[in-house]
Amino acid sequence: MIKAKFQIEAVSPGAMLREEKKAGTPLGIEADKLTSQGQLVPDRIIVGLVESWLQNHNGAFVFDGFPRTIGQAEALTNLLEKRKTPLDDAIFLDASLETIRERVARRMVCESCGNIAAIGLHIASAETVCLRCGGHFSKRNDDNEETLCQRMVEYREKSEPLVAYYTSHNLLANIDANRTPWEVFSDIAAVLEK
Ligand code: AMP
Repeated sequence: MIKAKFQIEAVSPGAMLREEKKAGTPLGIEADKLTSQGQLVPDRIIVGLVESWLQNHNGAFVFDGFPRTIGQAEALTNLLEKRKTPLDDAIFLDASLETIRERVARRMVCESCGNIAAIGLHIASAETVCLRCGGHFSKRNDDNEETLCQRMVEYREKSEPLVAYYTSHNLLANIDANRTPWEVFSDIAAVLEK
């Protein structure tokens, strides 16, 4: 929705890693050992992916799921300083554990094009074919209760400190994500339009 409305590129290291895995690269295979266990991938790998993406793109962009550690946030600041394009906003989508559990349970990914769809919202059931490409949906191998618990441990230890970090830099927009995509997006749009 952000891409469509603001005509900007969205970059997700998680999606990049899933593409690498699909292509069978050593990076994709190694990273999958961590992601499937709910662990974060080391900063130097993630920052490397983001850095090479930035080298080939000049316009505005939004990162999804990056930075996830203070080290990544500091590396991002350095990368953006070199480009002379400071960060405008850090958007914190604040969702309860109950919301996250429920979304993880309903989330499906198209095996062909990577389209993400929620059962009961975008598609009727797991057997529905992808509206974009006709491909089949399957679950991410980290979208299960056990891996989610580990992802939450990683989140609390490594990612939650970013809330204080970006608040202290006056960049944080805290958005209640326990609502419909349209309500959440309306708040995000207000932040980006200001
Ligand atoms: P996501 O698609 O954003 O939910 O990310 C899926 C998984 O990819 C995460 O649980 C991590 O294992 C890995 N990953 C994605 N983004 C990052 C990041 N910024 N730092 C470390 N690991 C990441």
